Amino acid sequence: MRKEDFPILSKKIYGRQLVYLDNAATTQKPQAMLDAINFAYSDFNSNIHRGVHHLSQVATANHEQARRKVADFIGAKSAEEIIFTKGTTDSLNMLAFCFGETFISEGDEIIISSVEHHSNIVPWQMMCKRKKAVLKVIPLKNDLTLDLDKYVGLLSERTKLVSIADVSNVLGTESDLSFIIGQAHQRNIAVCVDAAQSVAHKKIDVGALDCDFLAFSAHKIYSPNGIGILYGKKYWLQQLTPYQGGGEMIEHVSFENTTYNILPYKFEAGTPNYIGSYAFAKTLEYLESVGLEQIFEHENSLSQYAEKKLENIEGVKIYAAGQEKKGVISFNVYNKGQLIHPYDIGMLLDKQGVAVRTGHHCAEPLTRLLGVSGTVRISLALYNDRNDIDIFIQGLKRAIAMLE
Ligand code: PMP
Repeated sequence: MRKEDFPILSKKIYGRQLVYLDNAATTQKPQAMLDAINFAYSDFNSNIHRGVHHLSQVATANHEQARRKVADFIGAKSAEEIIFTKGTTDSLNMLAFCFGETFISEGDEIIISSVEHHSNIVPWQMMCKRKKAVLKVIPLKNDLTLDLDKYVGLLSERTKLVSIADVSNVLGTESDLSFIIGQAHQRNIAVCVDAAQSVAHKKIDVGALDCDFLAFSAHKIYSPNGIGILYGKKYWLQQLTPYQGGGEMIEHVSFENTTYNILPYKFEAGTPNYIGSYAFAKTLEYLESVGLEQIFEHENSLSQYAEKKLENIEGVKIYAAGQEKKGVISFNVYNKGQLIHPYDIGMLLDKQGVAVRTGHHCAEPLTRLLGVSGTVRISLALYNDRNDIDIFIQGLKRAIAMLE
């Protein structure tokens, strides 16, 4: 589907056609995004806000239009609820800091889950250390789904926030967000959703989800690196203490005191990535022109195709086998009961032009729970097709034969 829109995909690696199956780490970029960056730098580059001159006004208008585009894309009520950040990690660190400073006291509790990426663990851990709060973790059941009975048991009068991945970057499985959010809200507890792995693979509607915060990185949805968003309900954002001080985020500054800007600028200190925001919005327009529903259907059917093919290879163990996945499949290969190191599989696939990722995927606690030091992970995007999967499967079989 639309491979021709992505220039890098025509590249050869070691003389072989590139098969790129590392999209959960980052996606490749369409010509529409490359053109947008080129256009932004050649047509209106100028620092935004405050400028009286023409270029600055155009750049400002484009940046704010991009914010509205992102707000519409995820169903936010208003553009004020969209804070531009550097990416998911930056968004989650920002939230952990701001929420911690504003609402957390000694003995309060934060809940995360066993499948979280390090960037939805460590910022909360750091905040809990600073505030003498307690980090609690929803355990997994044997089938690798979250134990939601145990989750309900973890919710207490001291719980202040639940932060949870929509889709696991290791297993590809979805969390039951409507249940998790519903239970938290019955107790007036805020919920943050890490949508890094879901935003490119399913419709995100923060209104329907009713989450209080949501974070994702633009680079995971065919858009530029170095930009992402933190969505927050106005109710919460208005109360939060800002994260960084500097230009843009202030109303008035004196040496004695500073008053802060209105939303969302209160959280955007310094020159924002206005080239990135423009290209991000143009990429979202491109994706809409391809058709989001078609993209999601295509990926779901490709994921099932890939899982079926993998299942038929002797010695392959798929994690969360048979469960619905959003673009990610993790597995390991065993030879007569002995684990073949995922790194060796990854290396041999690379030599055949197939890019996959191996290791703990920045989710060390989860891989430890799986009882391994890492997995091989393939992850899909709109431009992958059955031919890519067939080449990967052939390459994997060849790699296994060499390693046996
Ligand atoms: N959360 C999840 C679930 C992820 O998969 C990732 C990226 N692998 C992140 C957070 C962090 O994203 P970034 O590195 O773009 O900040």
